[in-house]
Amino acid sequence: MNRFFIPPNSILDENFVLRNPATVFQIRKVLRAKVGEKIILLDNSGFEFPAEILKISRQEISLKILEKRENLAEPNLKINLFQALPNSTTKFEEILQHATEVGVSGFWPIICERSETRKLRNPERLAKILTEAAEQSERGKIPTLAEPVKFGKIWDEPPAGLNLIADSFSTEPLLAKFFSEIQEVATTNIFVGPEGGFSEKEIMTARKFRAQTFSLGRRILRTETAGVAIASAIFFG
Ligand code: SAM
Repeated sequence: MNRFFIPPNSILDENFVLRNPATVFQIRKVLRAKVGEKIILLDNSGFEFPAEILKISRQEISLKILEKRENLAEPNLKINLFQALPNSTTKFEEILQHATEVGVSGFWPIICERSETRKLRNPERLAKILTEAAEQSERGKIPTLAEPVKFGKIWDEPPAGLNLIADSFSTEPLLAKFFSEIQEVATTNIFVGPEGGFSEKEIMTARKFRAQTFSLGRRILRTETAGVAIASAIFFG
């Protein structure tokens, strides 16, 4: 069944009218859905609502909510990705898409000493990528996307949870050392550096605030690969 996120708290009773023009177009023209067919509505609460199409017009689609049920694809572990902004928007979009599919809960773009990019471009497009990736992977919540923040600033108020820095300049300890701790804590924040890696000063600063470094071994991954590989190792390992 096709899935569509709708605004939070917008299901009030068993009748629901979809009016978002892009979603109406998608259902009517792309999927060519017919009256009587079923779709799943998601209100970003972690619940999902199978619904039957009652009426289709150019502007809106009327639905009958059939059920409210828990979404079972949302991960139990909360993994946030503090990702250095890569030097192209396309790379950042790939990271958002793939890491959402794998199960990352929140994205925190960071600006490092060696970052070449400092701004998020086209936030509407990025929001759309997150929504579509969450729909595609059948998740119940859309990951959050924060505003970019300087790496140094983060430690003014260190993120709650286990803070782990992917350090391509060291070969130990391996990420696997932290697997059992990750299962026990409420939140794990993974930090991935830019194309040039974190500076020594950045690593020292993070360590001062009890962040721990880890290695993925001797092969060096691109920044746009590292976060997805780390999240995959945690969720599928
Ligand atoms: N110029 C750096 C070097 O030669 O080591 C490579 C930086 S890498 C392209 C970008 C980021 O991905 C790193 O800062 C790190 O966070 C992560 N990364 C890539 N490979 C890694 C590895 N083998 N172990 C730990 N982190 C890695």
